[in-house]
Amino acid sequence: MADAEDFKRTITYGEAALSYIRRNVIPAHPRNYETWYTYAAGFNQALNRAINDLIATKGSISADDLQRIYARFLSPNRLGDRVDEVGTRVAEEVQDLVDAIRISTDATSDFGKALDNVLGRLHETLNDEKLRDLTSAMVKATHAAIAANRNLESQLLESNRQIRTLKENLEAIRYESLTDELTTLSNRRHFDLAIDRAIDLAKRTGEGFALLLTDIDHFKSFNDRFGHQTGDQVLRLVALAVKQSIKAQDVACRYGGEEFAIILPEAQIDDAMDVAEQIRRAVMGKELVKRSTGENLGRLTLSIGVSLYEGGDTSQMIIGRADAALYAAKHSGRNAVRSLQSNELAANQNGSRVA
Ligand code: GH3
Ligand code: MG
Ligand code: MG
Repeated sequence: MADAEDFKRTITYGEAALSYIRRNVIPAHPRNYETWYTYAAGFNQALNRAINDLIATKGSISADDLQRIYARFLSPNRLGDRVDEVGTRVAEEVQDLVDAIRISTDATSDFGKALDNVLGRLHETLNDEKLRDLTSAMVKATHAAIAANRNLESQLLESNRQIRTLKENLEAIRYESLTDELTTLSNRRHFDLAIDRAIDLAKRTGEGFALLLTDIDHFKSFNDRFGHQTGDQVLRLVALAVKQSIKAQDVACRYGGEEFAIILPEAQIDDAMDVAEQIRRAVMGKELVKRSTGENLGRLTLSIGVSLYEGGDTSQMIIGRADAALYAAKHSGRNAVRSLQSNELAANQNGSRVA
């Protein structure tokens, strides 16, 4: 049943993609198709915004436009390419600076030579004309040196400005590479880094942490009933409930499709259970209404597994316990929070997960 829905949905996106290709008279190469398919499905908000902006300003989209959109939003190398671009611009900026310094150094050395020349000739008997020549040579050399220094100074200012922009670009790329676009929570990559960091910290300082794994109950059937795009809106709403239930030092990530992982530094089991309960209640408490039609979509619930760092844990071990606790929460009838310590896990080794 779900497969039939999925089939229908993907065919609709595919047909829409082909119709965009026809309408804009663009070759149906796989990359162009992928870009339009993503647009039709609405998976990537930033891509949709960029295409809509282009359509609004130009009326249509050329093959070149589409190629740029692909490179910016879909190419698997896009972040690497942008980092390379920043690297190239830093190298160019440094070269410009080195050139400006060389010109300034040459001018200063010319100035020094002119000065030596004047000093050498001061021993000669100088008539008015020679004195005038000397003075005008000095004035010229001084002006050249001043101009070169000014040039260096403005080049330094310009480089400073450029480097600040490049730093901001790098910061934006870093942010993007660690952020889940749909929910703006951290992505899985960030989670992997954050949990390793939390374990290192726990080993060094003895300061533990808790881990929450959340999974939406019966989300597949929700998607089947109301559509994937509505499902995506709901994921945003759940992410918001997570954000509103945690503190600044906590790290909330989109762990998988409809699963979130939250790291709570320094939390004891009671604190972690409280946060999990708060998230569970916040989601359960929201009546879901489709904004465009006012249609009432009912309510969704979450199951949450909680585990606490224990000395000697690897990331797989603490994630495994949170996962097993999540399994227990699902097994208890869903819409529940469960925790699991390693001794309970050992006593209950049946746990491969359902969710
Ligand atoms: P339960 O967890 O209660 O056992 O049932 P479930 O139906 O939620 O099962 P499971 O967690 O295994 O299903 C995940 C479903 O979530 C599959 C898919 O329909 C939906 N899903 C996963 N990722 C996304 C996503 O990015 N967007 C949307 N809209 N749905 C997603
Ligand atoms: Mg689920
Ligand atoms: Mg799941």
